[in-house]
Amino acid sequence: MNLSASQPHVAHTAPRAMLPSEVDVLVVGFGPVGAAIANLLGLYGVSAMVVDKAEKIFMAPRAIALDNEALRVLQLAGLEESDFGKIAIPFVRMLSPYLGEFGRINTLGEIDGHPKLVTFYQPELEEALRRRVARFSGIRTALGIALTGVVEHEDSVTATLDLGDDSTCSVRARYLIGADGASSLVRQLIGQQFEGKTYAEDWLVVDARGVSHPIDHVEFICDHRRPVPHMTAPHDRERWEFMLRPGETRAEMETEERVSELLAPWGKPSEMTLERKAVYRFHARTAKAFRKGRIFLAGDAAHITPPFAGQGLVAGLRDAANLSWKIAWVLQGRASPSILESYDQERRPHAKAMIDLARLMGRLIMPRNAAVALVTHGFMRLTRLVPPLRRYFEELEIKPRNEFPRGLFVTGRPRGRLVRGGPFPQGWVRDPRGRIHLSDDALGPALTLIGFGRDAGTMLDAALLREFVSCGGRIVQIAHRGQSAHLGRDGWCEDLEGVFMPGTAPFGWAAIVRPDRTILHDGPVTEAGRLVRESLALLRNPVCAEASHDATPALSPRRSFP
Ligand SMILES: Cc1cc2nc3c(=O)[nH]c(=O)nc-3n(C[C@H](O)[C@H](O)[C@H](O)COP(=O)(O)OP(=O)(O)OC[C@H]3O[C@@H](n4cnc5c(N)ncnc54)[C@H](O)[C@@H]3O)c2cc1C
Repeated sequence: MNLSASQPHVAHTAPRAMLPSEVDVLVVGFGPVGAAIANLLGLYGVSAMVVDKAEKIFMAPRAIALDNEALRVLQLAGLEESDFGKIAIPFVRMLSPYLGEFGRINTLGEIDGHPKLVTFYQPELEEALRRRVARFSGIRTALGIALTGVVEHEDSVTATLDLGDDSTCSVRARYLIGADGASSLVRQLIGQQFEGKTYAEDWLVVDARGVSHPIDHVEFICDHRRPVPHMTAPHDRERWEFMLRPGETRAEMETEERVSELLAPWGKPSEMTLERKAVYRFHARTAKAFRKGRIFLAGDAAHITPPFAGQGLVAGLRDAANLSWKIAWVLQGRASPSILESYDQERRPHAKAMIDLARLMGRLIMPRNAAVALVTHGFMRLTRLVPPLRRYFEELEIKPRNEFPRGLFVTGRPRGRLVRGGPFPQGWVRDPRGRIHLSDDALGPALTLIGFGRDAGTMLDAALLREFVSCGGRIVQIAHRGQSAHLGRDGWCEDLEGVFMPGTAPFGWAAIVRPDRTILHDGPVTEAGRLVRESLALLRNPVCAEASHDATPALSPRRSFP
């Protein structure tokens, strides 16, 4: 057993004595999702312990692609641009042996301050997340320790931990998060089995460095005889995924000779450095529910997807952002425990929608035979002649939006880019000290009342202001670039790129944004008092809040939580 060297308060000796018998949150699994959750809980000031049965980071990379939403969650979790290497991907090509390029997705450029698509090296990301966790004195990590059992009580959970030296101990936690991967024991213990599909195909995943003819993008070679996704990655790496043909075995495909044969079209295998080769079978499955009582599932423990849309870890990071602040707010007495219901309500449908997208991509990548390939790829090529269809695929409009039909927000019709239950945009801003930030960094890890062009704080009476602040609230004013002379007190920023005004909201509007950057409420700034009261009511008593819904007319059919 190796207790984290970065955690001086968890000693390497006498671990049983050093492990706490009680914690607020026990996170099981220190993979990328457990590590992101640990960082977010630390940021929100929650005390937690993370255990992992493995002593070290798993060094064979699995995830290779991340989208702008994942990068934004990593930013929320405190990671900086330079913390791990990334390669921005300009486009994704779909190639047919008969028709040439039949599809393309443009991924150049950014959304909400981050590249639309990057590739990365998973162990480097995990190392960065673990380094950051070490900043938080409230977060303990204990490696080489496996969860073996859980008992739930009315006010807590008791977990049994195997200390790896033939002994066990018990830890009591207010909440437990199972981020223990695809074979999650937590999921089994709470009886939320996976539902969905396991694919019959196996894939050989190969990572190599020093390729003689490197590429700068992602390509899917959609040959029904041997489909091959292929992509560039940081530090001179490339990845290929080769679908196994019927009769090919894992043992045969993982031999050096076979891998060399497969890589031959891309250069001399003798000149490449083969970093890893492993056969995987992909699944498209979600747990029946992401929560049971005080126990939650996140990441691969809750959902697994074929990697064709590059969304497995991305979905896990969305879970991390959605769940962590809710648990923190409940533990800190700022919100009612019933807000925790909204985690499953918000996350499960979206995770399923992403899996459906990956399955659709799978059908394009792995046509059953030449005839199916010609029809589907030919159809995709024809869609490029119809501008709205072309945009739908090429500009990624096909990707499910991270907007919740139901959840923890006050219902209302969308206003500009402000969609309640959807993400608040991000852009570059300048703060009162002249520093330039991405806006999430300027807003901080708070529940935020934002006034567009006007100070929403002046609309709250002293008692309401105190109540909002005690609920983790912060007030920020966003002004047009060059209008900072209007702004008196701290807590403002200038919109340097015009992302917020008027693109997102008109002058004189206000929005309340959750710590995970989901829009909770919005309306005229003159009604900021009402917006705050309704938002606090929703956090404190989600059931009552439905009755006291937004007074804005023409409400959308979307319902309030629950
Ligand atoms: C070939 C391949 C390609 C992929 N490509 C992409 C991609 O491009 N983009 C993307 O977003 N995703 C991709 N994915 C998916 C991505 O790798 C996973 O979604 C991600 O690694 C899951 O992270 P996690 O933290 O949920 O689980 P894991 O990384 O599996 O971590 C779980 C942790 O829990 C620990 N654990 C398990 N049981 C216990 C226990 N009982 N007690 C204590 N600890 C326990 C384990 O030791 C492990 O450290 C890919 C996956 C594969 C296989």
